[in-house]
Amino acid sequence: MKELKVALVNTQYHGRGYPIGGMENYGLLVLAYAIAGIDIEVGLFPEVGKSTADEERIADFLKGADIPIIGLSVTNSQYTEYRQKLAKLRSQVPDAIFVGGGPAFMREDGKYKDSVDIGLLEDKLDAVNVGHAMPFVEMCYSLRTERLRRTKTGLEGEISTGLYALKDGKIIGQEKGKMPNIPMPVGITNFIFKRILVYADGSCPNACDYCTCPRGSLTPAESTFRQIKKYAQYFSKDHPLISFSDNNPFMTKKSVEFMREIRRRGITTPLSVYADDAMFANPEYMRNLVEELGIESIFIGRETSDAQVAAQLGRRLKGKLRDQDLLDRSIKGLLEFNRQMREKVAIRIGYIVSPFDNPNSIAKLEEETRALSGRNVTHIISPLQAHFGTEIRRKYRDLLIDPDNPWLMNEDTLSWSRESNPYMHTFISGMLAFYALKRKHKNFHQLIPSAKRLAESGKEVEGPVTSSPFEEVQRHCKTLIV
Ligand code: SF4
Repeated sequence: MKELKVALVNTQYHGRGYPIGGMENYGLLVLAYAIAGIDIEVGLFPEVGKSTADEERIADFLKGADIPIIGLSVTNSQYTEYRQKLAKLRSQVPDAIFVGGGPAFMREDGKYKDSVDIGLLEDKLDAVNVGHAMPFVEMCYSLRTERLRRTKTGLEGEISTGLYALKDGKIIGQEKGKMPNIPMPVGITNFIFKRILVYADGSCPNACDYCTCPRGSLTPAESTFRQIKKYAQYFSKDHPLISFSDNNPFMTKKSVEFMREIRRRGITTPLSVYADDAMFANPEYMRNLVEELGIESIFIGRETSDAQVAAQLGRRLKGKLRDQDLLDRSIKGLLEFNRQMREKVAIRIGYIVSPFDNPNSIAKLEEETRALSGRNVTHIISPLQAHFGTEIRRKYRDLLIDPDNPWLMNEDTLSWSRESNPYMHTFISGMLAFYALKRKHKNFHQLIPSAKRLAESGKEVEGPVTSSPFEEVQRHCKTLIV
């Protein structure tokens, strides 16, 4: 049997001020546990910064292995860092097998270039893991037992479902990977905000057209609760939160049951969760749940307050498009919830602006964000991104400036053409510019009036435009403010 060593590298760019560090990349953490579970030596290299010392550390770790493997985790916003990291690692460990994974890698129907094509053919990765981590784990096992070998023309042998590779210059592979069957591990962040990270159930019945969230679930074990307790005690002075990565936890029994089990075991650390705005159509129900479970922080995906925009975005609830009545009841309930709970719960609420908006929907956005403001509320307004593999990309790719360019797909960049909607093109460009000017601005809604004035002036802004701080993104875009 061959001796393998696997270095898992987190290149994650968290964007707008999110804390970084530690084991905050939950997908890599799951992968690390699953690989260690089949007795392969694995090193987890969290956000590794820009110094070459990190690459040297990774090279040192891999020394002596018959087969050194480097797994790079790539989210949709981080092509810049991933490609830089890949180039540096290649020069340090040229004989390693390089595998890309994470939500950035999605397969499409083959008619257009997708991120798997880009990963294998342009970035020259040896393999790409699509979906959850199981294909990567199986690849390691097959390499160790020599059911899979690297040859001059690519990987040869057993290729698991969800793993993509080149064979004689052609891409082989199919479908998506599943979550490994392991007990739920626990991650931590260790910088500014202390978070204890868990993941019970990522399933979501909504099927929005722009969604890239992978589905899957993990089961807590005794070790899960022990670890949560240990970190809770360790961080106790820093007011930690137990942070759920579950996509829509109040819509799945498993997530809520896990929250209750945490409490039954006497762990009192408050929770941080995502929530669907539709849940707030019944504010009393939400208030009781939040109080019962000890939730202190909620990220709410609102996206839009306009049903026409919701229809074009493909914003759904259990597969059905959200109508105006539901959107209105959701915000009315949310305002009521906030009135009762503003001293107890921090709310971050996310909106999307897109070529489907118009002066009317932007006026609604302005009114709504003004009504739902306060010290406990943070608004996050981001341009719509048509990520690889999404329905939104399939439907509207002709409205994109450069649909096959992964550099444009980050939350600081406008990738829709001016022709798609001149008013919104200037509005979004303005928001990005004002955001870049006032990077410390917490609440995006304060930028809306200025962006509106710019859009109403009819000024033309050439695209693609970005306020991303990364040079490589800027090279592909007009940078509004550096
Ligand atoms: S609500 Fe929509 S975007 Fe959010 S996880 Fe569910 S399907 Fe995805």
